[in-house]
Amino acid sequence: MTYRECYVQGQELLTCAGIEEAALDARLLLEHVCGTNRNDLLVHGDREVTPKQQETYQELVQKRAGRIPLQHITGVQEFMGLEFAVSDKVLIPRQDTEILVEEVLRELQSGMRVLDVCTGSGCILLSILHYSNDCTGVGVDISPEALAVAGRNAETLLRERELEYTFLEGDLFAPVEGKFDIIVSNPPYIATAVIETLEPEVRDHEPMLALDGKEDGLFFYRRLAAECGAYLNRGGRLYLEIGYDQGQAVKEMLTAAGFAEVQVVQDYAGLDRVVHGIYFGMNN
Ligand code: GLN
Repeated sequence: MTYRECYVQGQELLTCAGIEEAALDARLLLEHVCGTNRNDLLVHGDREVTPKQQETYQELVQKRAGRIPLQHITGVQEFMGLEFAVSDKVLIPRQDTEILVEEVLRELQSGMRVLDVCTGSGCILLSILHYSNDCTGVGVDISPEALAVAGRNAETLLRERELEYTFLEGDLFAPVEGKFDIIVSNPPYIATAVIETLEPEVRDHEPMLALDGKEDGLFFYRRLAAECGAYLNRGGRLYLEIGYDQGQAVKEMLTAAGFAEVQVVQDYAGLDRVVHGIYFGMNN
């Protein structure tokens, strides 16, 4: 079978299975199996694939048709132009979260101390460190399995950089010491009742721990707003990713907790996505 015939077959199967991005996923799986890139379909589509490659490809397409996320099959996801290892123990990095990182990068200066609460794969902290000069980073997560993935990503991405970073296991700020210039978090923020309405890829394969924001989805924002002051330098900044309908509620929480210049930032779809503010303490 040729490379293109494989691709067409994979695409048809994924389309029939109701996979939204059938063509893209069929191509990415084929590139994963054959070690090729997007040019190969355009330029070398008539090359024969080996029987082994064909067999492996068909197996992986079947998995994807069964609604296993593409990233769990390939083991990777690109984020901020960097490649992150993922597993079913971490939230797959989302493109929307790049807005959060970009907002942080606007204000980031050399030498700052950055804390990422609920770090998961480490995608937020590690991309901030990667694009910084000599910032120091701490990432916290309650899941030791997630921290193992984050640690692996740190080794791959920051190997040739002399950047200081630490990953700590615990519930939000529990294991954290000292103060930071920037605190960033993409906490679980989906209301429990909404989780069952999500796509099967998310609902059945991504960690509940990374999705569930409890009753109204705002559980972790309440705790972050109440607890983060003790870990921010005066004039330090907090950046939170939020769900599209949580902007106003989280803005009010931060204002009540002593933050100034609290702003809600939209993503490229025009939906509220990030809230950030500056901490001056409760007496200002
Ligand atoms: N901070 C990680 C991310 O944005 C994990 C977030 C989470 O587990 N809710 O990908």
